[in-house]
Amino acid sequence: MYATEFLDLPPLETAAGEVTLPGSKSISNRVLLLAALSEGTTAVHDLLDSDDTRVMLDALVQLGCGVRRGGPGQVEIDGLGGQPPAVSARLFLGNAGTAMRPLTAALAVLGGDFVLEGVPRMHERPIGDLVDALRALGCSIGYLGNQGYPPLSIGRPTLKLGAPIPVRGDVSSQFLTALLMALPLVAVERAIVIEVQGELISRPYIEITLNLLRRFGITVEREGWSRFTIPAGSRYRSPGKLHVEADASSASYFIALGAMAATDRPLVIRGLGEDSIQGDIRFVDAARQMGALVEGGANRMTIRRGAWPLKAIDIDCNHIPDAAMTLATMALFADGPSTLRNIASWRVKETDRIAAMAIESRKLGATVEEGPDWLRIHPLPAGQWRAARIHTYDDHRVAMCFSLAAFNPDGLPVRIEDPKCVAKTFPDYFETLFSVAGTPAASIPVLCIDGPTASGKGTVAAAVAARLGYHFLDSGAMYRVTALAATRAGLAIAAEQEPAIAALARTLPVRFADGRVFIGHDDVTDAIRTEEAGMNASRVSALPSVRDALVALQLGFRRLPGLVADGRDMGTVIFPQAPLKIFLTASAQTRAERRYKQLIAKGIEARIVDLRAGLEARDLRDSSRPVAPLKPAPDALLLDNSTATIEQSVAEVIGWWQARQPFPA
Ligand code: C5P
Repeated sequence: MYATEFLDLPPLETAAGEVTLPGSKSISNRVLLLAALSEGTTAVHDLLDSDDTRVMLDALVQLGCGVRRGGPGQVEIDGLGGQPPAVSARLFLGNAGTAMRPLTAALAVLGGDFVLEGVPRMHERPIGDLVDALRALGCSIGYLGNQGYPPLSIGRPTLKLGAPIPVRGDVSSQFLTALLMALPLVAVERAIVIEVQGELISRPYIEITLNLLRRFGITVEREGWSRFTIPAGSRYRSPGKLHVEADASSASYFIALGAMAATDRPLVIRGLGEDSIQGDIRFVDAARQMGALVEGGANRMTIRRGAWPLKAIDIDCNHIPDAAMTLATMALFADGPSTLRNIASWRVKETDRIAAMAIESRKLGATVEEGPDWLRIHPLPAGQWRAARIHTYDDHRVAMCFSLAAFNPDGLPVRIEDPKCVAKTFPDYFETLFSVAGTPAASIPVLCIDGPTASGKGTVAAAVAARLGYHFLDSGAMYRVTALAATRAGLAIAAEQEPAIAALARTLPVRFADGRVFIGHDDVTDAIRTEEAGMNASRVSALPSVRDALVALQLGFRRLPGLVADGRDMGTVIFPQAPLKIFLTASAQTRAERRYKQLIAKGIEARIVDLRAGLEARDLRDSSRPVAPLKPAPDALLLDNSTATIEQSVAEVIGWWQARQPFPA
């Protein structure tokens, strides 16, 4: 997950390969609650691991359910068996509507002493119609903030189950889902009838609910979309084991990606087929209408670009409310204006999504018209795109939709602010995107940082990489690893072994992961950091064919979304076209003092004067050696950080970097 302030997507061109998507949010949270309400234990597989499921799991633990987490996507839930939860609890439900609404209903009919609350945006998302329905049933629910909105307090009910229960269906289908999941708990002696008032929106989500209720032993009778009967004698029973499908809404970004950019090889989505029980799978029809070539298989879909530009669309989106946002970005690449209709529910989602899509598309240069429940997007021709900073409103879908703008024909980058908001449903969205997106290496930005020993370049470079969400290449470590591998292979580090060491370097299975360095499975992080390893590295780095052998390995670090490369010849030999090169220096005295502190911290005795003399000698040797001497690239910016903290140096570098980006201030 990218927890950076922003993530700059370089211009992207192609998409190909395979993706496995995270589990469906809608299915995951329903399954968790149903498992909790059931008798018996349910083993859930392929569960979505995201903010929304985490708040649900935490809530279930607080309510006294046994929750055991297994490997990725696996969790076992011991159900409450319809018994009231033992404790009173204050539940924090983040911004998860799929947790807030059903838990409100279930806890209100079971009764207890509960507070349900969330993030500020959750307290702006309506729940009044559900509360009205539950109060009519005899539930005791109070508003702790604004009338009609969370936070809520829940007490003990006096249930009146005789008459049909009315609920509005035209604001959020989650109200009906909540009642459908809660009422089987009390439909013991008599059947319970729910009557939907107004036109029911987002029906496919109700289908998911009914489908999953059946898996847990409850068959609801439905008359059209207006009357639902929960039979007498209902009792939740665990199905034992349950697999969660991949999320069809998450799939929409990759279906779009295939339609836009899978030109040579297809893009394959695993974990989801066209027979999915999720309504958003019908996004496939809309994508086909726009020109996508989609072949469905069981648990798998293959997507290619068909028509290009895409074909404009005019579509009622009521049946695919979430995935339809993706159509709005695809529409920028269409052959005429596209109209998305019947999307009033967008206004009460994570943010006002109609406004958000309109405002952010306009930043890219597009012409967009909006109405209370519709949106019209005009295509954005080549030559008219603008580099934009996309505000994401803490809305995962806004972030994911606008990542597709990186495929613009004008070769412009796109800045996604607060990229971690995707964690709501798809924490690794950007990593997954980068795993299938293609772009020429020259489009992937590289920052080079070099400087004399103990100038702080490694620390600054790593911090800059972390701030930008870029990869980090510690090229010195390459030489250190090569020297270590050579020593371990019994090779003397000397000119006569140059061919053997170069051969070793060419096939070195070096790996950098989580701040550690590995040769194969061997963690050599500490072994390469000794003074002796540094000296040996310096010696191997003077062998020209070893340097040559490491070129391909180092070039391989230039991967999406970008790279910060630290070391001697980064800006001169390896990445001469890098758009920003920094030469970081500090006075010999400052560097000697820094090195002194490092050594003392490790419990190693040292004297500053000796260290300073050593550094000056090494500077001289490094800058006068014939191969890759220490000197700034001609176009490098000098940064003397003698009196600066690391944080100040990082800020300076980031400032220079920002100044070179095309985004408006
Ligand atoms: O930066 P670090 O101290 O880890 O580098 C170890 C040695 O490798 C240095 O002495 C330097 O001379 C050499 N080196 C190099 N080219 C690079 C990086 C490091 O010659 N790109």
